[in-house]
Amino acid sequence: MSLTKKEKITLFWFRRDLRVDDNAGLYYALKSQYPVVPLFIFDRNILDDVDKKDPRITFIYDAIENIRKELKEHGSDILVYYGFPLEIWKQLSEEYEIAEVYTNTDYEPYALERDRGVFDILKEKKTVFKTVKDQVIFEKQEILSGQKSPYTVFTPYSRAWRDKLNDFYLSSYPTKKYLKNLQKWSGSGSPMMQEMGFEVSDYNFPDDEVSETLLEDYAEKRDFPALQATSRIGIHLRFGTVSIRQLARQAKAHSAVFLSELIWRDFYQQILSNYPEVGKGKAFRSAYDLIKWRYDKDDFKKWCEGKTGYPLVDAGMRQLNAIGFMHNRVRMVTASFLSKHLLIDWRLGEAYFAEKLLDYDLAANNGGWQWAAGSGTDAAPYFRIFNPAAQAQKFDPKGEYIKKWVPEIGTATYPEPMVDHKLARERCLEAYKKALDKAK
Ligand code: FAD
Repeated sequence: MSLTKKEKITLFWFRRDLRVDDNAGLYYALKSQYPVVPLFIFDRNILDDVDKKDPRITFIYDAIENIRKELKEHGSDILVYYGFPLEIWKQLSEEYEIAEVYTNTDYEPYALERDRGVFDILKEKKTVFKTVKDQVIFEKQEILSGQKSPYTVFTPYSRAWRDKLNDFYLSSYPTKKYLKNLQKWSGSGSPMMQEMGFEVSDYNFPDDEVSETLLEDYAEKRDFPALQATSRIGIHLRFGTVSIRQLARQAKAHSAVFLSELIWRDFYQQILSNYPEVGKGKAFRSAYDLIKWRYDKDDFKKWCEGKTGYPLVDAGMRQLNAIGFMHNRVRMVTASFLSKHLLIDWRLGEAYFAEKLLDYDLAANNGGWQWAAGSGTDAAPYFRIFNPAAQAQKFDPKGEYIKKWVPEIGTATYPEPMVDHKLARERCLEAYKKALDKAK
């Protein structure tokens, strides 16, 4: 049965919430008074700049095919387009009798601008456009300080977050109960990956489940990159193939430290939504935009390729280049090395991570980079500069992680350190101090 063009429908637009179960926006769509037609758009505004071999496209593609399978079990299907969202929405609003549109809120600046455009298109036909909180536990200004302003320091934010938490915020949306309200139809499938210009990746994506054992050992082991002791759930949270509520319930039951990491995620999302300029290239602390960065292409290339002569930095960058993942401790060390030792603009590193990390998320990546560079919320003071060798000794004492990613370590082919730690430290302190003094 094809989609009828005259019957009133509700559209549900999937974006970074690629699951049927416990999906807040889908739940509200299904409870509206019209049959629901799900939709996904491969957005060319984003994809035109993405490498044709990027495994994330395969990840998204597979997630949509899984959704389609589930919908088909209920006699329904999903509309999938490849193109520019505003053009597609204009076409959809002409083609169908859309009474309402539901979607889950995306807090990134590009997404908000796109959604305003969609809102305007739909308004012309008096179509209601509703966005719903789904990808975080607390959004926007749900957690405010005593002065009614957003928190910019993590510890009091996390305290307030925990105080506000109750079963209501953690309970799942019982989407499955309402799937009978899906429109009954069958479509013609998605455009092929090749038609969109992408190669299918055979990347072995991490599991979407976190074991109890991992959570129980997490506090003790999470800082050691040689151990597989973190969840690798980032990509699933990024694209919504797991529900944050389900994960936070599990964290609450088994690991306070893991829950704290999920709170960091909420924290940076609320920073992005309350201070959107950080997502548009601005330092959270504006004085840091006065730093005179070195735009040295050769040095940047050495960092990207993992050829700095600092083993932990090189291991991290090579892990990133090889598998699209880097351990958190090493993300901190490599980011600090670029912005402080090499005095290269953290925005270049941020963009490199964005291109390579499969769990790339604007809010967390920007938060992490600004933290490392010293310009962010809650940032380490600028004069505290990681010593990569000491970090390696502490967190990779047997050199196992380094050996895995830098097999030539200890041989003549491994490069000498590209900068002297002490000199680099002094150069950094001087440049940072100059900028901060200027801002006074
Ligand atoms: P786990 O340790 O198992 O944590 C579980 C989840 O908690 C993560 O998947 C993530 O969603 C969340 N989380 C954990 N730590 C943080 C944190 N510090 N800030 C925000 N959320 C956190 N995380 C991203 O999800 N995307 C990024 O693009 C990203 N870029 C980063 C860049 C830099 C420079 C730094 C220092 C950190 C960055 N992080 C980013 C945070 C963190 O490194 C990753 O979330 C984590 O390493 C992902 O591995 P995991 O899923 O095994 O994490």
